[in-house]
Amino acid sequence: MTKPKLHPALDNGIAATSPDFTGGTLVCACTDKPVRVRVEGQIAHNHACGCTKCWKPEGATFSVVAVAPHDKVTVLENGDKLAVVDPAALIQRHACKACGVHMYGPVTRAHPFQGLDFIHPERFEEKGWAQPGFAAFVSSVIEAGVDPSQMDAIRGQLKSIGLEPSDCLNPGLMDYIATWTVQHRA
Ligand SMILES: [Zn+2]
Ligand SMILES: [Zn+2]
Repeated sequence: MTKPKLHPALDNGIAATSPDFTGGTLVCACTDKPVRVRVEGQIAHNHACGCTKCWKPEGATFSVVAVAPHDKVTVLENGDKLAVVDPAALIQRHACKACGVHMYGPVTRAHPFQGLDFIHPERFEEKGWAQPGFAAFVSSVIEAGVDPSQMDAIRGQLKSIGLEPSDCLNPGLMDYIATWTVQHRA
């Protein structure tokens, strides 16, 4: 049986995290006037995501997505090419209008993720970013067109590369969200 394809950054061995990574520059896919976004410091909560909202490279079943504090994210060049994909969404995904790559997605409304920007570390020019640690919203790949009969193979493949599959976020983040919700009860 052929292994299901997940994402180019996952299918051929996951690149190791470097303790020396102190930040990097995200670059969109444009050859002319690419958008460049600086992220200071190491990223957090990097994971594979099966939701239908995250940007994925051509042919990928999952995205690879992480967060960085909003004040550590700066648009360096060609920010005029960015537009918000869905202004009503929790994550204000800023995509390049020319190539479609999502460059950064801040959470600005009151929410446990407020103050964090979602980014796709595969767009870093540099290596050594924190490797993905789990898989989120795995069942949602069916919404993107995956045949339900493939789910056992997909979950098995995720487990085999060390990414525990979850159909929401991982337990740590779900506990964090629930704790925030308790603390913000009126
Ligand atoms: Zn672009
Ligand atoms: Zn997602």
